[in-house]
Amino acid sequence: MGQLSDRVRDAMVKKAQAVKEQMGSGESRRRLDLSGKKAIVAPGHEVVVRLLPRWDILKKYRTDAGGKVTVNPEYQDDVVFFEAFEHWWDSPDGRSTTREWCPCTFDENAHCPLCEAAEKLAESPDQNDKALGARIRAKEVFLFNAILGRVGQRAFTEDGRPDIRYLSAPATIFQAVSAFMTGGDEAEFARGDITDPRDGYDIKLIRPAKQGDRWRVDCAPQPSVLFAPEEKEKAKGWPTLLVDVEALVRQEVKSYDTLYAAYYGTEGGTPPGPPAEEFDTGGAPPFDFPDFPEPGVPSTPHDAPPLPSPAVPSLPPRASVPPPQPRRPAGRRR
Ligand SMILES: [Zn+2]
Repeated sequence: MGQLSDRVRDAMVKKAQAVKEQMGSGESRRRLDLSGKKAIVAPGHEVVVRLLPRWDILKKYRTDAGGKVTVNPEYQDDVVFFEAFEHWWDSPDGRSTTREWCPCTFDENAHCPLCEAAEKLAESPDQNDKALGARIRAKEVFLFNAILGRVGQRAFTEDGRPDIRYLSAPATIFQAVSAFMTGGDEAEFARGDITDPRDGYDIKLIRPAKQGDRWRVDCAPQPSVLFAPEEKEKAKGWPTLLVDVEALVRQEVKSYDTLYAAYYGTEGGTPPGPPAEEFDTGGAPPFDFPDFPEPGVPSTPHDAPPLPSPAVPSLPPRASVPPPQPRRPAGRRR
């Protein structure tokens, strides 16, 4: 039997542990939500986090024959975040909120029942419909690896490992982070890579007290190490805990039919067929809106009663809303 070196064995054990944690512990274990029931900070309060390097940062380094760690010249630096689109919606009774990735995250031309519903609702003359449309439309988010707590007080899990998760940040926070790193319009204010484990910067996220107001972000005045000397031993191997957020979203994004069923509470979703102009509609659109039943009312296409016009589901908007970024996926065709 071939012997594993201590180094390789340790690396594999650590990676296996990390994968197990990431797979078996469910989404809440991996995600830092800024709003909703599991929000990491209450309205009007603030939280300190450290953003972390890109998930493949380990590939940036390699050990040469002499055991010296050097930078891998083949490693391509890339941004430390992943841009995605989320949908949030509320159950008809308003008691629960669902969040799903929008399929347009990976393909701007993808069909998405939530995007379609949001568009139709936005066109409705009814203000409640419009509000619901705004509620459910795709929200742009920027996913970063992060750890809660300021330097020397970073978050560790119950089993003593660094509590590294991914943070879903709205565009306002992203823009602030980008400005800290690049200086924005004033390059002399740039702090460079604030995610650097050796001399990056903690940031403070200040949640607005009022729904709809903007998040504020502050950057620590001094650079700091990621883990204080007393945390270093416990934190060993932390890069293996970084979440590959792009792969995660790719794995979690649902199909049209699954999203349809989740939103309307019924089966029967199929992506739209031929484009509208192929129908002889006598000047009217082929359908005002697909014959979707009201949410929560199970039915089949054959026994569904005709819906009153406008045939759009109407849910009351709820107090709890996702990050205040009412932006559509960039470059959508519609
Ligand atoms: Zn969508």
